[in-house]
Amino acid sequence: MTEIAQSVIKLLASPPIPWCDDCIARELKLPRRQQAQAVTGVLEETGQYDRYRESCSQCEDAPKMVISIKSFRHA
Ligand SMILES: [Zn+2]
Repeated sequence: MTEIAQSVIKLLASPPIPWCDDCIARELKLPRRQQAQAVTGVLEETGQYDRYRESCSQCEDAPKMVISIKSFRHA
């Protein structure tokens, strides 16, 4: 588990709301958006997170790919 991954997990847990890769990268001050994308892709594979098209909780832009803890979406 990388330091970035741990930061993303923390971000998605408190509070458990959907984030897009852009906002994750900005919030964690990652130089490249692809770094956030790489982590969210791995998290999705764990089965504990969902990636889907929806408005991001932060930028509230048009629906885009966001990720959240699975329990959030199915709550
Ligand atoms: Zn966003």
